[in-house]
Formats: sequence, C-alpha cells, structure tokens
Amino acid sequence: TELLTKPIEKIRTQIEDLQKADASISRIRALLETRSAIADGPGAPLPQGALGVRFDDVTFRYEDGPGEPTIDSLRLELKPGEVLGLLGRTGSGKSTLARLLLRFYDPQEGVISLGGTDIRDLKLSQLRKRVALVTQNIEIMEGTIRDNLTFYEDSIPDERIVSVLGQLGLTSWYMSMPEGLDTKLASGGGSLSAGEAQLLAFARVFLTNPGLVIMDEASSRLDPLTEQRIEQAISALLAERSCIIIAHRLSTVQRADQILILENGRVIESGDRAELAADPGSRFSGMLATGLEEVLA
Ligand code: ADP
Repeated sequence: TELLTKPIEKIRTQIEDLQKADASISRIRALLETRSAIADGPGAPLPQGALGVRFDDVTFRYEDGPGEPTIDSLRLELKPGEVLGLLGRTGSGKSTLARLLLRFYDPQEGVISLGGTDIRDLKLSQLRKRVALVTQNIEIMEGTIRDNLTFYEDSIPDERIVSVLGQLGLTSWYMSMPEGLDTKLASGGGSLSAGEAQLLAFARVFLTNPGLVIMDEASSRLDPLTEQRIEQAISALLAERSCIIIAHRLSTVQRADQILILENGRVIESGDRAELAADPGSRFSGMLATGLEEVLA
C-alpha cells in the first residue's frame, strides 16, 4: 500500500499548496479592486500607447491629515512619451501625487486627466491597467514566479514571460530555480534579493504594457550588476511610455524631459530640465551641484 499512499499523499499536498497560492492571489486582486470607497467611473476610450497627464489646480487633503493641503493647487502637464522627474524631500507629497493619479483618493478640488480624459470617467480597472506603479517595496505573494508576474492579467503566454525575463537579464536566475517559472515564492519574497525583487517589479510592468509608468526609484544602492540591469530596464521603459519618476538619482534626472520640485505639496520649481540645469539661480541646479541624494535625504 506504500506504493499507493505515497503518491496520493503527494498529490494531496500539491492540491493544498495550489489552493493556498490561489487564495493569496485572489486576496491581492480583491485588495486592488476595493482599495477604497472611490466611485467607479463609467469607462471612456483611452488612446493606445503612451498617455499624457494633466493636473489642473489639484488640491487634496487627507481626511485625518493636517489643516494644510498635502497637494496644493498643483498643475502639471506631461505630453505622451515624456519623462517627468519628481523631486522633493520626504513628506513633500510625491507619493500622494502618485496615489491621486491611481485614484486611491480623489482630490477635493481640480481635475486630473489621463490621455485627455478626466480619470473619474474611467473605470478603475481600466485606469489601473494603463497606469503602472513600480515601487521599491514590491509585493511578492505566496505563489509561483509565473503567478507573481501575471496577476494583473491572467492569459499571458509563457513565451512572453520568458522573453521579458530575458530582457531584464533574469534568464539564468529563473532557470536556476528548482522548478523554473513554477517555483514557488514565499510571501514577502523570502530569499529574493532587493535587486531581484525590483527587477521582478519591472517584469510585471513590461507584461501589462501600460501607457504611463509611475516609478518610485530605489533610494538605496544595489550591487553594480543589478544597478546596470535596472538602468537598462528603465531605459527600455522610457522608450515607449510616459513616465513619472520619483527620482533619487542624478542619472535618472539627466534623462527627464521635465522636472518638478515639490515642497509642502506645492510646486516650488518646474520646467524643462536643460533650462533649469542651465539657470544658476534655480533650486534644481543647486541640487545637481550638491548631489540629489544629499538634498533629498
Ligand atoms: P513623500 O512621498 O514626498 O515622502 P507623502 O505624499 O508620502 O510624501 O506625504 C505627504 C504628507 O502627507 C506628509 O505630511 C504625510 O505625513 C502625509 N500623509 C501621507 N499619507 C497619509 C495618510 N494616509 N493619511 C494622512 N496623512 C498622510
């Protein structure tokens, strides 16, 4: 009977594992969909490819926040395909700006539009499919590598996954895993290095092909090889999409078309990167001289 019970036992554990993985994926999906009590929009057509962004006098206060607005009469215009470098100290409102764009909150005043459409007119699922957020703390959930890469979109063929992993220099990484794409990752990432987690976050973005990427750049140093891969991944991202980067590095700022510096939710400086850099009186050229890492710490 040993001969029979062993395989049956094995299958039973596998089924239980699968159920666990499935449960955590549905939890994340549910979280993405019901993150807040924001009213879903009716849906509206969005252009293909890179998407422009506008903030028209946007003012926002957190309900339990201080009296002062967290985002104060903010205006910005990003043309399709442009890169905006967003700078400012901790607490200046950079992440809040990103959350507003994804409609985790709605501003009390002003209009945010994407691809020429007020984001409140878009379906939340539509908005969050076309705008990708890449943060430093990528959520790795319990599930296979494949599950982790495709949870925004189910039907991505393995060939595409493999090709994107290749673009990011992750081929030998996933091939060294015991079961390739079927290797299970622990919730929170377990043994993944910070660089691998960051590259997996990029892979997710490539696979959904959004028109706008909001990126919170890693502020900590990674090993040189990872840095180089991340640099390459960023270049590839910038080529086909609009991008808002919460920038911590000079190399990123160099390729931004526009710069916006926030302080207490207000824009204290904005404009063309080259012009600001050339103006010795600008806050931005001061930052370049001192080094962003120091100024933004
Ligand atoms: P940054 O990304 O530039 O560090 P944030 O957008 O995270 O800045 O924060 C801007 C301000 O809003 C800070 O004063 C912060 O304390 C406050 N804040 C951020 N999140 C919340 C929240 N969920 N509720 C209340 N206040 C918040």
